[in-house]
Amino acid sequence: MRCARCRKEAVFTTPALCTEHFISYFERKVKKTIADFTLLSKRDKIVVATSGGKDSLTTLFVLQKFGYDVTALLIDEGIAGYRPVTRKGLETFCQEKKIPLLVASFKKEFHFTLDEMMKKGKHPCTVCGTFRRYLLHTYSKGFDVLATGHNADDEAQAVLMNLCRANTELFTRLGPRTTSRGQGFVPRVKPLSFCTEKEVMVYAFLNEIVVEFVECPYVAEAYRAGIRDALNEYERSHPGTKERVLRHFLKVKKTLPASESTTVACASCGEPSASGECKACRLRAELSL
Ligand SMILES: [Zn+2]
Ligand SMILES: [Zn+2]
Repeated sequence: MRCARCRKEAVFTTPALCTEHFISYFERKVKKTIADFTLLSKRDKIVVATSGGKDSLTTLFVLQKFGYDVTALLIDEGIAGYRPVTRKGLETFCQEKKIPLLVASFKKEFHFTLDEMMKKGKHPCTVCGTFRRYLLHTYSKGFDVLATGHNADDEAQAVLMNLCRANTELFTRLGPRTTSRGQGFVPRVKPLSFCTEKEVMVYAFLNEIVVEFVECPYVAEAYRAGIRDALNEYERSHPGTKERVLRHFLKVKKTLPASESTTVACASCGEPSASGECKACRLRAELSL
């Protein structure tokens, strides 16, 4: 197959583009997302939540390439066999690119690794998610914005999952920009919102972004996997489906009244919470950490 722009050998099929034209296509998409949703300004101090996977490394890479001020933030949950490998990969990447790296660890903050907490009978993803959100929040203080590597597949899957489960309260977490300014939260942005998983994979590969392929041993998202497969099937037969799901959601979201969720400081740690006790402090008490 030939590139639709210059007739050189194509490295990507939909659309058919050569290396050079695919890279400019991808970067234009990211720039357009940043501009259309006013995600970032060149004056912003940006912290990027990084797992060490292709999405977060690509986010760091592309934002640095565009001239933004980026710092990487890794949450080390303490998962044997998984985190040490991805952490090493991220450290090497940050060293090479001269990107500052912050590491927040469960062991240091909560005195136990996630593996150790598992002996207390809670679902690993609940524990991990709650403490991860807490640390992302506390470590992003002093930055203007927190960027994450969510891609169009992640976002379209989340829209459909929430729809199928009637989870409307999670709507606030979806979309390229989730603003909670003025509530003690740093705004969150997703510059890769309109780039598909495949596009991110190819972009990372072409830019020699090395990714360690190790999967979290606790991964058990059967529900999401079903939605992912269905979406991939529709994307194959009807190209553009993922983007349309996302665009439809954003149109609907615009018509909804802004949710006036009021937060109060957590009595134990001072972080914003709905009830006066934040989820992380409640979980710490339940696990007697
Ligand atoms: Zn070309
Ligand atoms: Zn608290």
